[in-house]
Amino acid sequence: MNRSEFLSTTLGIIALSNISMKPSKNYDPLILIGKGKPQLVGSTFSMLPEVKVALEIMTRDAKNDGIEITVVSAYRSYERQKSIWNSKFIKLEKKGFKNLAIIDQIIKYSTIPGTSRHHWGTDIDIIDGSQTSKGDLLVTKKFHGNGPYNKLRKWMDTNAEKFGFIKPYNRDPERKGFLYEPWHYSYAMKSIPMLNAYLELDAISLIKDSDLLGADLLDSKFINKYLSSHVLGIDAALL
Ligand SMILES: [Zn+2]
Repeated sequence: MNRSEFLSTTLGIIALSNISMKPSKNYDPLILIGKGKPQLVGSTFSMLPEVKVALEIMTRDAKNDGIEITVVSAYRSYERQKSIWNSKFIKLEKKGFKNLAIIDQIIKYSTIPGTSRHHWGTDIDIIDGSQTSKGDLLVTKKFHGNGPYNKLRKWMDTNAEKFGFIKPYNRDPERKGFLYEPWHYSYAMKSIPMLNAYLELDAISLIKDSDLLGADLLDSKFINKYLSSHVLGIDAALL
């Protein structure tokens, strides 16, 4: 019996093959790159319904321990990511950075539009709303030592996984790509299949965008390297 005969005669396996063989068929490519219209819930910070449910349960639990999990970023469209990218690009250019040096600076923390996990509605950035803090909120030192979000970070390190949330950009020194982000969490059950589907897309075609500053520098060699270092430079539990 060859593979296709086996599949066509075994209902259970057919169902399984739908999940594992061509995951991209289950996702609109436009949604994966932030240009589609995903079914989200929430107004200011929107996300997939399943993510919101899990987040609410986790938030309730954390509250019992005196921590107010507060979302400061969730779903982000391609256009929004592009405006973040372009404004960082202009700032760095003014500081005297040039060409690829600009891009290397941006991709320490920010993604190339079309490649952000925030496009999927599965990923959130959080702080502890019970703490007051001035200036930029998403700064690593605020999540450690005497920082206002140290207690949140410790709580999440112990508990987040029980609720399905994993930190993609962990502190593992062996990890490549984006720097450590103690505030960024991903709802694994949803984001893993989306990443698999995403990886089947033709990545270079995502970046063809004349309004994107530095787009001419993002050739296929660069993008392939970026995909392996940055898009795949995440906690192994999310692969
Ligand atoms: Zn984030």
